[in-house]
Amino acid sequence: MAKGFFAKLQIGLAKTRDKFLWGMDNVFYDDAFVDEEFYEELEEILIMADIGINATSRIIDKLRAQVKEQGIIHRAKCKELLIQNIREQMRTDGDDYSFESKKTVIFIIGVNGVGKTTTVGKLASIYRNKGKKVIIAAADTYRAAATEQLQAWAERAQTPIITGREGGDPASVIYDATSAFKARDCDILIVDTAGRLHNKKNLMDELAKMNRVIDREFPDAVRETWVVLDATTGQNALNQAREFNEVANLTGIVLTKMDGTAKGGIAIAVCSELNIPVKFIGVGEGMEDLDRFNAEEFMNALFETEEKTDIQ
Ligand code: GDP
Repeated sequence: MAKGFFAKLQIGLAKTRDKFLWGMDNVFYDDAFVDEEFYEELEEILIMADIGINATSRIIDKLRAQVKEQGIIHRAKCKELLIQNIREQMRTDGDDYSFESKKTVIFIIGVNGVGKTTTVGKLASIYRNKGKKVIIAAADTYRAAATEQLQAWAERAQTPIITGREGGDPASVIYDATSAFKARDCDILIVDTAGRLHNKKNLMDELAKMNRVIDREFPDAVRETWVVLDATTGQNALNQAREFNEVANLTGIVLTKMDGTAKGGIAIAVCSELNIPVKFIGVGEGMEDLDRFNAEEFMNALFETEEKTDIQ
């Protein structure tokens, strides 16, 4: 995570932090004892901070066990343990970015308005800056406006884009895109889909059809399918991810609009409850406002500690 981005994230998380720390201050006061009321209050704070019910239960259960084990009597002693337990919920395993060194197709899905198109443009720019040859496929053929918007982003990201005609078959856009991909020996194909959930079966069929084209034309490609979630929608975003996962076998999540939301805790819920890695995080509308997600740095930004590492 670049320094400037970390600073933006830190500022963006201010409302989440305020809500969270204000709640904590009210619970961890002076010499108050750990009692049942303490756990209930904590639970409420975590749920209010959008950390999610399951993650909250896990965090509190662990704290209860630690309190018992270590014979803790005063609430103040629990604060660091609590933060540590929240951090643990963010652990992800595996190399979530190994696809970057291979020929890859990334499908971007998500409901309208979450930031899909914007994310496609930003991703194209990120990978182009890393020296990758990128192509964008505008497979949302339902709305002419969507294609136009994406064309504008492609231009800004200086990335070639393959479009279809309005109302055309998204799979034929994919066909054209894979041909262009091979002809130009590209590295990453980013597909902006109409991926909405109005009709699960339609979405499933549409994705399957696009995937079949890739199976046939480009069998060695690594396939990534990422859902874009708007962090400002809190628990709703979590539900969307679950629903999309039922139809699309998600390999990643992009969390947008982390700037200025009070619901930033949703990142913790998403990591803890879905077992799908958050790959990127958005903190604004500009080209530079997307970066890889790093759980440790997210927690540092949330709790305002200084440690940070730069990853390219
Ligand atoms: P789509 O309908 O899913 O393709 O969404 P768009 O890409 O058109 O984005 C919807 C709106 O969200 C636009 O006004 C974007 O500028 C805005 N947006 C996208 N990502 C972010 C972000 O990380 N932060 C903020 N503040 N706005 C964003």
